Amino acid sequence: MTLVTETTKVFLGEADIPTHWYNIVADLPTPPAPHLHPGTKEPMAPEDMTAIFPMGLIAQEGSTERWIEIPEAVQEIYRLWRPSPLHRARRLEKALGTTARIYYKYEGESPVGSHKTNSAVPQAYYNKVEGKTRLTTETGAGQWGAALAFATQVFGMSCDIFQVRNTFENKPYRSLLMRTFGATVTPSPSDTTQAGRALQERFPGTTGSLGMAISEAIELAVQDPNASYALGSVLNHVALHQTVIGQEALKQLDVFGEQMPDYLFACAGGGSNLAGIAFPFLRENLEGRASVDIVACEPAAAPSLTEGEFRYDFGDSSGTTPLLKMYTLGNDFVPDPVHAGGLRYHGMAPLVSHVYHEKMIRAVAVKQREAFEAGVLFARAEGIVPASESNHAIAGALRQARAAAEDGSSPVILIGVSGSGQLDLPAYAEFLSGDMSDT
Ligand SMILES: *Cc1c(COP(=O)(O)O)cnc(C)c1O
Repeated sequence: MTLVTETTKVFLGEADIPTHWYNIVADLPTPPAPHLHPGTKEPMAPEDMTAIFPMGLIAQEGSTERWIEIPEAVQEIYRLWRPSPLHRARRLEKALGTTARIYYKYEGESPVGSHKTNSAVPQAYYNKVEGKTRLTTETGAGQWGAALAFATQVFGMSCDIFQVRNTFENKPYRSLLMRTFGATVTPSPSDTTQAGRALQERFPGTTGSLGMAISEAIELAVQDPNASYALGSVLNHVALHQTVIGQEALKQLDVFGEQMPDYLFACAGGGSNLAGIAFPFLRENLEGRASVDIVACEPAAAPSLTEGEFRYDFGDSSGTTPLLKMYTLGNDFVPDPVHAGGLRYHGMAPLVSHVYHEKMIRAVAVKQREAFEAGVLFARAEGIVPASESNHAIAGALRQARAAAEDGSSPVILIGVSGSGQLDLPAYAEFLSGDMSDT
């Protein structure tokens, strides 16, 4: 269809912020495999998880209800930055000389610059209403830690964050952001937990990993009855919270006068932003209203979907989490320290793994130089510096847009730009000076 409007971005109003999260489980033709108890290997019962999660989130983890109402207190905080804008990337299209129409949903305008606040806020909320006063968590690049630091601060709770040592040491800005929001940040693996000490013995001189930081955060939560653990991705309830992204994008594309995208690209580390933008579109596919080609863009350094095995595995390095049925590289896999710290994870969300296994979505692996080349092109055209992680989605989309330029087709391409790269500038500097390794 030809567009008559020159519209460049659509914000929507606050009245258009979704009031419910969308649970894809209700619409899946086959049910995803349950999480298993690490000891008994039986499906997890809700009471098995109460040591680390509040009931509100445990219920969501196992829910088969299609729509789950967003509590008013959470909606009120969402209004600080939602709805997030949907842009037509007109200047990027010109720069590429493509006939594709490219749109991007930008989550970088949240208080900490990524989609992570969409889940941090409800996670803090459900813990708060069940009387918890403290949350513990892991963080890689620091996006999730910053989001949870913000969310716990909003609800007057304290927050203990274990940050992968490599990023803690090399990229101090997000840990400063976490501390600004009142959190305590410890590099992982640390000497302050049993898990941290054991991991340092097993992997001498390790630069850390998300899996290791998760083990430490869980240990701390289990020891304190007033504390819970919070996970920034992977689990069903996190994927659920992120579906505000895709629901808004559906409405915004409609305002642009588009039907459905032909392609949707999102980066995938643990899978939450991909699930968030893609599941509402996948629902359209499942109901026969669309045939969106959904593509997960993962880093070549941690290619869980494209090279991992689909089996039960632990979510952390020490084997303390429930067993999750997912694409995994093995829970002792330590990815190279690439710049997209948020993508350095050995597994993939069980729901994303399930729909990938059922061939409802595709996946591609992207090396970091191609990712940053795409990110720089995007920044120069659109004036937004994307997060290192988001660059993988942009790179995937550029492959498609360039193919369109060659064959003269005009597909509609939607990109999930999950965050801002303002605090990733040292990575850009490395790319610009030609020193970035191509892993
Ligand atoms: C954490 C993060 C990711 C990766 O996590 P997912 O759960 O796969 O979304 C991607 N982009 C940004 C900006 C992040 O902060």
